[in-house]
Amino acid sequence: MRFLALLAWLFFAFSFFTAIRSAWLARLVGGLSRQHRLHHWLGLFAAALLVLHTLREIYVDSEVAFYFEDPFLLLGWLSLLLLLLALGASFANKVHHRWWIAIHWSFLLAFVLGFLHGLIFLHPGRIHAALFYSIAALGSASILGILYYRSRGRRWIVREVQQVGGGLFEVVLRTERQGSTGLKAGSLVYVQLGHSFTQNWHPFSVASCRTSPELHLIVKNAGVDTSHLSDLEPGHSVLLQGPFAEFEITERPQVWVAAGVGIAPFLGMARCFDYRKAGPVTLVYYTERIEEPIKMELDRLASEHPEFRWFHSEGKSADLGILDQTVSADRKAQFLVCGSSAFMRKIRKHLIDLGLPTSDIETEEFTPW
Ligand SMILES: Cc1cc2nc3c(=O)[nH]c(=O)nc-3n(C[C@H](O)[C@H](O)[C@H](O)COP(=O)(O)OP(=O)(O)OC[C@H]3O[C@@H](n4cnc5c(N)ncnc54)[C@H](O)[C@@H]3O)c2cc1C
Repeated sequence: MRFLALLAWLFFAFSFFTAIRSAWLARLVGGLSRQHRLHHWLGLFAAALLVLHTLREIYVDSEVAFYFEDPFLLLGWLSLLLLLLALGASFANKVHHRWWIAIHWSFLLAFVLGFLHGLIFLHPGRIHAALFYSIAALGSASILGILYYRSRGRRWIVREVQQVGGGLFEVVLRTERQGSTGLKAGSLVYVQLGHSFTQNWHPFSVASCRTSPELHLIVKNAGVDTSHLSDLEPGHSVLLQGPFAEFEITERPQVWVAAGVGIAPFLGMARCFDYRKAGPVTLVYYTERIEEPIKMELDRLASEHPEFRWFHSEGKSADLGILDQTVSADRKAQFLVCGSSAFMRKIRKHLIDLGLPTSDIETEEFTPW
């Protein structure tokens, strides 16, 4: 097995490792969104190196490279094709989330086929073999890790579900564990909604403060499960994974930019002002139509906490003028942005065009994960 292939094998195994949905791993890499991006890059590097490896083999001896009567050579080709097809389908961003999950299983098949191919074409050297088997063990352990962490969850009980307006709901949960408090604002949880819902895990931002005895989620009616949240009667139990670190409130000035239901983590962080001090914070909230309960709560928080101010813009397209004024008032702030992928790209590009360093822009994307 050649160097390029071995390196691709390593990236491939690490792409599985970074798909493990565990709180400690997310913390280690600086948040779940960052882990998500790392996972993407590793998958892309693995594919690019495998293509280079294949091109090299064709260059060295094209007859051998296309000798499909050898089943183990064929497995290598199949592994590469599967990897490229699955990557293409994942990054095309056109597939529904449920298809996206199904597609991800083909990466596992590509890994197994790659292993069988590598096993036969392994370089005779001991170091090569040791590396090949160690990486295979890392990949296999990571796949087990993915399955293990996805099968676990803590039970929380629904206390109430309130309609905030339009298609937005506030789901209030409490834990069964005695003396436990809520979860950290700005983090993410995955929720399996339980009886009468599908088995899917749904990511939602924590919209309450850790000091609060309950956990609040702001959920938008977006599809199969979230369209019948009224089935979550008080006493209904759900399973919850996390919290996964994402946004942090700091002493440093911050500007929070939200679109639509992307307000959820910021509402949670703003609710912490009732319990703790933070650096000056400006919230810029873009939404088609502002819901009255959210407006009233943000107004109350701004009137009681002088370090917090907020602006909003209603309508289908975001009025970036408000953001420009905020940026010119505080170029030293850290920018936290939450919303759809399209919104994220637009705001990130705009902030970079205004001359802000990328290290000062944190994002939590509502893309599948
Ligand atoms: C990091 C992150 C944080 C989020 N936070 C919130 C939040 O605080 N409040 C909120 O209302 N929504 C949030 N979402 C989106 C929310 O997870 C989806 O709207 C929800 O899972 C849809 O479930 P469903 O069965 O009703 O929809 P489906 O019928 O399965 O799909 C409806 C739409 O939602 C998308 N979707 C479904 N599952 C996911 C998923 N796991 N990740 C991303 N998109 C998905 C689908 O691609 C489709 O466009 C967040 C998503 C991410 C990735």
